[in-house]
Amino acid sequence: MEQNTVDYIVVGAGSAGCVLANRLSESGRHSVLLLEAGPRDNNIWIHIPIGYGKTMWDPRYNWRDYTEPDPGMNQRKVYWPNGRGLGGSSSINGLICMRGQHQDYERWAALGNRGWGWADVLPWFIKSEHNTRGASAYHGADGPLWCSDIEEKHELMEAIIRGAGDLGIPRNDDFNGAAQEGVGYYQLSTRHGWRCSTATAYLKPARRRPNLRVETDAHAGVVVFDGVRAVGIRYEQHGRAHEVRAAKEVILAAGALRSPQLLQLSGVGPAALLQTHGVPLVKDLPGVGANLQDHLQLRLIFKCTKPITTNDQLASLWGQMKIGLKWLLFRQGPLAIGINQGGLFTRALPQSKTPDIQFHFATLSAEMAGAKPHDFSGFTMSVCQLRPESRGTLAIKSRDPKQPAAMQPNYLSAEIDRQTAVAGMKVARALAAAPAMRPYVREEYKPGPKVGNDAELLEFARNNGATIFHPSGTCKMGSDALAVVDERLRVHGLAGLRVVDCSIMPTLVSGNTNLPVIMIAEKAAAMILEDAGVTN
Ligand SMILES: Cc1cc2nc3c(=O)[nH]c(=O)nc-3n(C[C@H](O)[C@H](O)[C@H](O)COP(=O)(O)OP(=O)(O)OC[C@H]3O[C@@H](n4cnc5c(N)ncnc54)[C@H](O)[C@@H]3O)c2cc1C
Repeated sequence: MEQNTVDYIVVGAGSAGCVLANRLSESGRHSVLLLEAGPRDNNIWIHIPIGYGKTMWDPRYNWRDYTEPDPGMNQRKVYWPNGRGLGGSSSINGLICMRGQHQDYERWAALGNRGWGWADVLPWFIKSEHNTRGASAYHGADGPLWCSDIEEKHELMEAIIRGAGDLGIPRNDDFNGAAQEGVGYYQLSTRHGWRCSTATAYLKPARRRPNLRVETDAHAGVVVFDGVRAVGIRYEQHGRAHEVRAAKEVILAAGALRSPQLLQLSGVGPAALLQTHGVPLVKDLPGVGANLQDHLQLRLIFKCTKPITTNDQLASLWGQMKIGLKWLLFRQGPLAIGINQGGLFTRALPQSKTPDIQFHFATLSAEMAGAKPHDFSGFTMSVCQLRPESRGTLAIKSRDPKQPAAMQPNYLSAEIDRQTAVAGMKVARALAAAPAMRPYVREEYKPGPKVGNDAELLEFARNNGATIFHPSGTCKMGSDALAVVDERLRVHGLAGLRVVDCSIMPTLVSGNTNLPVIMIAEKAAAMILEDAGVTN
């Protein structure tokens, strides 16, 4: 039965949206409608971690966006996968559990966002978490989102950890604990070897609640306003137009690439842009779509002397059967991991007070993330700068909600980003040359010996740099001229409307973004209920 008015409409069932749907419907006192443009998450490759390689290109579960030609990338259009369907990007991501640095949140607070310092956000990280190591000062054991250890140690990862030790980089067994610096294995969002997306962790347990309605294949087109109050959403489902009303609030959780698009399509954004496309202005907010930030990954690939890489295991039918059996019997091995096993956080530039680069180590190599593995024994060190200063923009190209907006990251446009990219790749080369790594490195395949000096390394970055999938910041929280939401995530100058997803980050966190988004949504849900006079 179509119900035309609910208390809360949440747009987007991704990392943030599923958390909101669960928490806002938990008390049973409010009706919640969750609208998701994509399908249900009933494909096996979403749930087996290595399916990451398959969903990377699957248009059913992935928006498969491309940036505009980027001057910093020698005019290349960079592929930007992002999740579509229940769980959103948490259904197709690399499963790495990473919160960032304590200082990231101190920076948000120092920018004037009260309630977002490290001590303020830690309880929400803990609330969301079910860490298989148990509860501690930094970790939760009772939350919905599983963070599990990689049980099996890999010979190559062990060599990398020793090699980093040769460079003076300490081992760190908990990147989400007291400090991030160091090298070690990642914890993954898996539960007994299966992916633990927010759809699995948060939505599934809430699905039977009579006050929660979930609509998939429901593409939100515009926010409906009554003056400056958001009162509903118009969406399309199976070719039919619908309008639904929100008695309390409309909450956009469509991700950093689609929440700002939806705002612009609804008349909230830079006045000149909206005028160009004939969108009637509701609120001139120049920051909608500004402040776009992303982590650029630079992948160094090495040929390995020993046939111990995942490339080797996947090369034969027998090898594939063996890893399949290992997963079926023990829920272990490459199928349980996704791609990246371990990480490293260190300082590439002397002036940095905390790590300024992150490495993702994969015991596998391919021409690009998610592509067919090389036919040689290979492994990858992917380097990314943690706090880029380059800023991009996102702007609608038309009034068609189904046409992606123009996304221009302007990678490497800031001098410090260029310096860090070059310095970071040099750290990777030093690591590959460390005594503990020598028995494992046959040769550097990419960039390769022809790329030597700093200018050549920078050119390699421009020609090969790719996203590590963290576009953020396009509806930033704050109070300056480009801020879109306030510290309670309410859109400035409007009523009944919030944005709760990756787009509200004023500055990118120093690490992967899934856990931070989940934390943001946990905290936002509590604020929304508090503003409605409900304490759970
Ligand atoms: C390939 C990949 C690998 C990644 N790896 C990691 C990792 O290992 N660790 C990590 O921490 N982070 C990782 N990330 C990043 C992380 O997953 C995302 O930053 C995070 O999931 C973003 O959450 P979100 O809620 O902002 O958006 P999303 O999770 O993307 O959710 C947005 C949802 O809104 C829906 N939607 C969009 N527009 C509309 C509309 N108009 N109407 C209705 N619904 C709409 C989308 O379909 C989607 O389901 C990865 C991301 C990708 C894409």
